[in-house]
Amino acid sequence: MTSEKIDPFVAARQLIPGGVNSPVRAWKSVGGNPVFVSRASGSKIFDTDGKEYIDYVLSWGPMILGHAHPEVTAAICRAAERGTSFGAPTEAETAMARLIGEAIPSVERVRMTSSGTEAAMTAIRLARGCTGRSGIVKFDGCYHGHADSLLIKAGSGVATLGIPGSPGIPEELARLTISLPYNDIGALESAVERYAPQLAAVIVEPVAGNMGVVLPQEGFLKRLRELTEKNGIVLIFDEVITGFRFSFGGYQNRIGIEPDLTCLGKIIGGGLPVGALGGKKQFMERLAPEGDVYQAGTLSGNPLAMSAGIATLSLLRARADAFSSLADRAAGLGREMIKLFAARGIPVCLNRMDSMFTLFFQEGPVNDFAGALQSDTALYARFFHGMIRNGVWLAPSQFEAGFLSFSHSPEDMERTLDACARTIQDL
Ligand SMILES: *Cc1c(COP(=O)(O)O)cnc(C)c1O
Repeated sequence: MTSEKIDPFVAARQLIPGGVNSPVRAWKSVGGNPVFVSRASGSKIFDTDGKEYIDYVLSWGPMILGHAHPEVTAAICRAAERGTSFGAPTEAETAMARLIGEAIPSVERVRMTSSGTEAAMTAIRLARGCTGRSGIVKFDGCYHGHADSLLIKAGSGVATLGIPGSPGIPEELARLTISLPYNDIGALESAVERYAPQLAAVIVEPVAGNMGVVLPQEGFLKRLRELTEKNGIVLIFDEVITGFRFSFGGYQNRIGIEPDLTCLGKIIGGGLPVGALGGKKQFMERLAPEGDVYQAGTLSGNPLAMSAGIATLSLLRARADAFSSLADRAAGLGREMIKLFAARGIPVCLNRMDSMFTLFFQEGPVNDFAGALQSDTALYARFFHGMIRNGVWLAPSQFEAGFLSFSHSPEDMERTLDACARTIQDL
């Protein structure tokens, strides 16, 4: 027997593939062993040794109110005392659907799921069921969860690990998915012209977050809406990240473009496992049991998840005016960080939409996945480790988004810039 503490990652790897339950958590692209977390509160996350970090990953987006928000925690506890799962309808599910529907006008009906993956998977099945067509268009570097049809040239962990698709996805199925360069209106027009009669859906992250943040260029989403509408193709906005990130609503509210279907997740679950598919009644009523397109889930609309989601969305609705100051705070942080890099002559390109950002280690501009891949990932890895040492928790991959929460204070910003300055010194 030895009294030495076993590295938690070593222990995990003996029992869990790669030691993690979702690939990017393993730090493969930045090297080293992942820090294990014991708890989190507000803007801070704490490792198993009690070291504190300012968290800009925020569970990959959901924790917009900060970790363990007292009102959300209280709502979860109250729900838990009344029972954690019934497998029968509850009024909380209607309340949740009402909150989402009031926030996003194109969402006339909502089906809750337990993950964003399921929401996107269901959106594809529904689009195929409604159109009687099989083809799908997606965009390089966009990630829509890990359903077979959507894991082609995908972002997030797939991009991080440099996997073009995945073994286990039948060639026959992969052939039905066309992946186009993001923001490339010409490529979109020719694909639609050529394949329209076979296309069930186009799915897009209206602001891409899974190849790092990439903004839609002028006219891209508008043209997408025109082309899909004209050709009877279902337009799916995957707003799993962007939903409730910029306002009490989706990114679609801001640009005034209504997709047919919207995928949600992350923020709407308040940190519990949640996804949702919403959209126009004419499509949504085809879902079972109203319609014939099957979809189900033992824990869908789970009472704990609904309580966290309702509490989170209610708080966001109450502070809808504060989204702009959250964006301002992120803008200020970005501006100051860029100055620090410029002073050292290190080229960086900050892509940011309000409180969601990626600092690409290259000159830029970055408008698509091929552009994102030009980044100096080795330098990013050194930056990442320096920031971790200095108490700032960033995504362990160049190809992910960072986030601010309402609990990030001006003092957090100062400490972050201080850590950034010290990290850059040692780069
Ligand atoms: C995270 C994410 C998903 C998948 O959601 P999970 O809850 O991880 O299954 C889908 N689409 C986008 C845009 C995402 O960022």
